[in-house]
Amino acid sequence: MTQQQKIIHVDMDAFFASVEQRDTPDYLGKPLIVGGQPNSRAVVAACSYEARQFGIHSAMPCSQAYRLCPQAIFVPPRFEAYREVSDKIREVFWRYASEVEPLSLDEAYLDVTYTADYDGSATLIARAIKRDILEETQLIASAGVSYNKFLAKIASDMDKPDGLYLIKPEQGAEFIANLAIGKFHGIGPATESKMNKLGIKTGLDLRQWTKEDLLNKFGKSGAYYFDVARGIDHRPVRSQRVRKSLGKETTFSTDITVISELIKQLEILAERVFDNLEKHQLTGRTLTLKVKYANFELVTRAHTAENDLDLATIKSLLSTLLERTNAGQQAVRLVGLTISGFGLNKVEDLNSQLDLGLTQRI
Ligand SMILES: [Mg+2]
Repeated sequence: MTQQQKIIHVDMDAFFASVEQRDTPDYLGKPLIVGGQPNSRAVVAACSYEARQFGIHSAMPCSQAYRLCPQAIFVPPRFEAYREVSDKIREVFWRYASEVEPLSLDEAYLDVTYTADYDGSATLIARAIKRDILEETQLIASAGVSYNKFLAKIASDMDKPDGLYLIKPEQGAEFIANLAIGKFHGIGPATESKMNKLGIKTGLDLRQWTKEDLLNKFGKSGAYYFDVARGIDHRPVRSQRVRKSLGKETTFSTDITVISELIKQLEILAERVFDNLEKHQLTGRTLTLKVKYANFELVTRAHTAENDLDLATIKSLLSTLLERTNAGQQAVRLVGLTISGFGLNKVEDLNSQLDLGLTQRI
């Protein structure tokens, strides 16, 4: 018999805005908007809870947000800071879960079915995760706990901010019956209005439909709607590990002192690294040059560009970076090039085979 899944969905509260409020205490307690300038056509990327009280929400044009709340503070996003927090919370997740599936920088599904900590209580594990996140990032997360991804995701939204919400197996079907269709993950505004027109307003309404009818009306998604209306969701939590950099290096058969020869070698490397990037569908902003001298001393020099690096830019940076080393004065035995600073959504599924040392509990 397969064991009941224990899934936690963790979601940081007002993520970008909370990071800004943490880093600039002046912003605390104030309506804060992360995104474009107030008079611009850019949209709100995130806003603080104080801003939400004015009816502001993410994806709203900044100009509209400004009309709703002229005293709001507008700041541009700082993705580096968000990514740093994202790395930290993922570290916390891996402490407790055997599988971690990030949905975005601040959100992930965790499979804790086999986690032995806290006697295997998913609720206590969720509390520990929230505590560790708070201690290590000074930020607040909400967690939803349930027996599948669909319900765990809904649960994390039930008690925000600083939420911890459990939907037990015996509560699942009842819970969904009363849930508004618009709250279903995987049902967007367009499907919601289509369903509303068909008289489907809640999970209970949805449950009256046969699988066949749902397939007819909604295509392949119909099967998913049929299942989740009954609290059934067998999708596994799929671990994804974020690749942080990609690089190559060459050790020369004889040490090189001539700069033009080094550049030639680096250009060959650059092409290989860039090919590899393309193969992995990655783009990055940081180029790091590694130089090992004949005496084995090692230096690295990096440049971060404002935009993703293309091959021509990478090649043009090689001599600049090389000038910042002692190459030429000192003979060089090895050079390496690495690209990092990848785009936000470029996640590579490496099908983690980590042995986390977690033991199965019955
Ligand atoms: Mg969030």
